[in-house]
Parts: sequence; C-alpha cells; structure tokens
Amino acid sequence: MKRILACDDSEFVRKMIKRELESSFDVVLFKDGLEAYEHLKENPNFDFAIIDGEMPNMSGWELIKRIKQELKLYDLPVVILTATDEDFFKNEAFDLGAFDYLKKPFKTGELQNYIKAFFKSDGYKEGKVLVVEDSISQNKVICYQLKEKNIWPISAYSGEEAIKLLVGGSDVDVILMDIHLPKASGIDVAKALKRDERFSYIPIIGITSASGARAIEIMKEAFDAGIDDFITKPYNMIEFYARVRANISRSRLVKRLKEESELDFLTKLYNRRTLFRFLEHLVAMAKRGNEKLSFFIMDIDKFKEVNDTFGHQAGDEVLVNFAQIIKDSIRKADIAARFGGEEFCIVTPYTSLPEACVVSEKIRKAVRENGINVQGRRIDITVSSGIAELDKDDDIGSLIKKADDALYRAKQEGRNRSMAYKDGEFVCCPK
Ligand code: GH3
Ligand code: MG
Ligand code: MG
Ligand code: MG
Repeated sequence: MKRILACDDSEFVRKMIKRELESSFDVVLFKDGLEAYEHLKENPNFDFAIIDGEMPNMSGWELIKRIKQELKLYDLPVVILTATDEDFFKNEAFDLGAFDYLKKPFKTGELQNYIKAFFKSDGYKEGKVLVVEDSISQNKVICYQLKEKNIWPISAYSGEEAIKLLVGGSDVDVILMDIHLPKASGIDVAKALKRDERFSYIPIIGITSASGARAIEIMKEAFDAGIDDFITKPYNMIEFYARVRANISRSRLVKRLKEESELDFLTKLYNRRTLFRFLEHLVAMAKRGNEKLSFFIMDIDKFKEVNDTFGHQAGDEVLVNFAQIIKDSIRKADIAARFGGEEFCIVTPYTSLPEACVVSEKIRKAVRENGINVQGRRIDITVSSGIAELDKDDDIGSLIKKADDALYRAKQEGRNRSMAYKDGEFVCCPK
C-alpha cells in the first residue's frame, strides 16, 4: 500500500483527508509542519505528501524547503493545499520543489481521484530529468518546459551538486547538462559519471550555446567524454522534447535490464553478486576518505520451521515481506542484499558500529513486534543479526567474517538479538 503523509493544522481537514484516503492508502497525519518534519527525519519512506501551506510552528512552505534541501527527499512528490493558488505562486512553491497544488475545500472523491490518477500515471508521469545548469534563470526555464510535458525536473546548479544529488540516491532518467559550467565543465562531470557504474547508464544530453565550428568541436569532445546526445541553443522545442523523450525511453530500457541482472528475483533486493560489486566500491571509498562503514548480516531464526509449518510458498512470502521491512528501515545510500536463502546483508556507509546497531535493532524489533503478514495471517518470526565496522586493515572478506562471527554468536546466545563485533569481542546491541 502506498504511504501518504498528510499535514494540516485543521482537524476538520485532517479528518476529511483521512476519510478520503484511508481505504486505498496508508495515511499518516500530522497537525503542523514541525511534527511532520521530525517524523520524516526518522521515517522518510513515504510515496506522496499532502501539505497545507499555512500552519503554525512550521509552515508548509518551510516544510517543503526542508524536505527537499535538508532531508534531500527529491523523489517525494509534494502537493500543497491552499485556499488560493496565489499563495502557491507567491511562495514560489514550484521552485521549492512542490509538484502541484490542490485548492481547499475539496469535493468528496476529488482528493482520492487525484492521488489514484497520480500513481496510475506512474508517479512522475513521463520521466525524471536532472537539469544541470548554472544560470538560475535558464535552469528555471528548462524546468518549466519539462513540467509542461509532465516530466519531473530536478535542478542542480553545478556539476558537484549534480553528483551529490545522484550519490544521495536521487533517481533520474536523463541528465540535461550545460557544457559551460563554472569549476568542473559539463564534459568533466560527464566523464566522472560515465566512469561510475552506478550512473554510467543514465543518458546525458549536453547543451551548448556555441555555434558553427566551435559547436562541432565541443560536440566531438562531448561525445568522446561519453555524452549520449547533444542540443545547441537556441533549440527548437519539438526537437528538445523529442530528444528528451527518446533518451528517457532508452534509459528506462537499460535500467530494466540492469535491474533484472542486479536484483534478487524473489525479494527484489540486490543479489549477492551485486552486493560484492558495491562492497568493493564502498569499502575502497570509505578507506580512501577515512570514513566509517558498517556491515551487518541478518538471518531469520528457525526458518526451516516456518517452511515446515506453513509451507514453502508462505516461506517465500515471509522472505519478500521481511525484505520490504528492511527496505523501509534503511536510508537511500544504504545497500541491502539477499546474501543467500534467508540471510540478508546491509551495508551502511558513513555509519559507525553503534549507529548500525540502532538500524539493526529497529528491524529486529519491527519483526518481533509486528510479525510478518502473509495473506492477512500473522506469522511470528524473529531475526538475529551480526554487525561489524570496517577497520583500517579489513578487506571485504574480513569484514564479512567479523559480521558472520557476530551472527553466529547471536544464534548461540539464544537468537532474536543483534550482536556487534568489537575489537575481537562480541557485544550485544542495546535493546
Ligand atoms: P537458524 O535459526 O539457525 O538460522 O535456523 P534456520 O532454520 O533458519 O537455518 P537453516 O540454515 O538450518 O535453514 C534455512 C532454511 O531456509 C532451510 C531452507 O529450506 C530455507 N530456505 C532457503 N531459501 C529459501 C527460499 O528461497 N524460500 C523458502 N521458502 N525457504 C528457503
Ligand atoms: Mg552556463
Ligand atoms: Mg536462519
Ligand atoms: Mg541460515
């Protein structure tokens, strides 16, 4: 079920939203911006947000700014509730990252239909494009042009910012890249992205205002750097949309093939091969930057009994739903994979051992307290976890071994617990 955050200071409006949406969506209500913000900090996993513009404590305008700029939830579609659309434009809500506005009060069924249509049209409709352009006015113009055609734009004003957005987990179909950027040029940024296998599949369309022989020179350099397509300014709008759309289609096809080869068929978490590829990259990065990185393995306790009691099919569903709990509990930069049968691994970059313990415990407790829902029936399972932090001398093998040894100890000490490996000893994570 899609999760919807709704925030309005009027109890009447909250009740109305709840009545409209609760039969089809999982709705979480908040009475002001601050309350929603505090919740989002810990639980960012929402599929849609409906936010009132004017609220005490923290206004909707401020909340959406924080959602995008501070919490970096670029992919969360936010719709603003306003009494007048003037407020929406006055507060430059599009620029803050709002997707649309809805006028209050709404008629019965209106809100429900709106959100259903939104998800039916696949959320971002035609696609998502990262616009890398240092000129604020030009960036805005391109964003408006994209929105006109139901393409979701995300703005970056430098190559560095674009890379930061992508690393932060922003998921885009196509990158529109100004070639003339301050500091790193569009060509340098393209080279960096094409070297990084997380992003190399995303088509990049270079944009330049150079003309004549100079434009051809730049185009050659851009293609050599791996840029996929090219537009010269001033461009014809039909050509612009045609190129953007063609690149979106290609991007989605490649992405699908990539996912099929990278994901575990049953749970749609990463498969083991992909986990190792990520580990290689993340461990090298953490060592180079002297950053923390933690790793843990979670194993379902006595899973054989689940299969024996409920059947293999129900066992499969337990695995799928447990994987979903993991996905809902981790951050975008974290990597979750199915390691084998009923064993799952989580890599948490920039995360210390105690912090990883908190994540592990959050998952363990969620499972313990709520069980796993399999076709309306609750199946009670518990999980054990072994956690390790990357040391200077660790390689991937030794890191996994430390976590695996901790997991083994968690099992020995009675299961249903998170155990951390620390300086050759094992310590139980605070519950
Ligand atoms: P422990 O608490 O020691 O981990 O006990 P366990 O029963 O979970 O561990 P064991 O490794 O002995 O058994 C794992 C079971 O997981 C056996 C296997 O049939 C089951 N399993 C592995 N892969 C799958 C799968 O894809 N689907 C289902 N339904 N079961 C699976
Ligand atoms: Mg420029
Ligand atoms: Mg097990
Ligand atoms: Mg096992």
